[in-house]
Amino acid sequence: MSLFHGHKTLLHGILLDHPEDGAERCAACDASCCRGFPSVELTAGEYAELERLGAKRLAFTLDGRFYLLIEDGCEFLDGNRCGIYQQRPAICRRFTCSTTRSA
Ligand code: SF4
Repeated sequence: MSLFHGHKTLLHGILLDHPEDGAERCAACDASCCRGFPSVELTAGEYAELERLGAKRLAFTLDGRFYLLIEDGCEFLDGNRCGIYQQRPAICRRFTCSTTRSA
């Protein structure tokens, strides 16, 4: 069964759906995911795009893996919001917090 088929699939606490970006959901976000993970994996194309956007915390391995290091806070955070929202990597697009908050 595909993880991206159907409505929402919970995997390790991560909802792998394609949620609508909503002002209410985004306003409640404290960007803990953009601060809490050590890195996000990139495609080679995303690596090049983030390099073009001025990323300083890029890394790659000799076996062909590309990363944006985000430990202690992604350099593209603008407050609690993504400062490169339209250009954010695919892995960031797929991620949404599994918890919801009440306002
Ligand atoms: S690129 Fe944007 S969404 Fe991805 S970790 Fe950085 S601030 Fe968060």
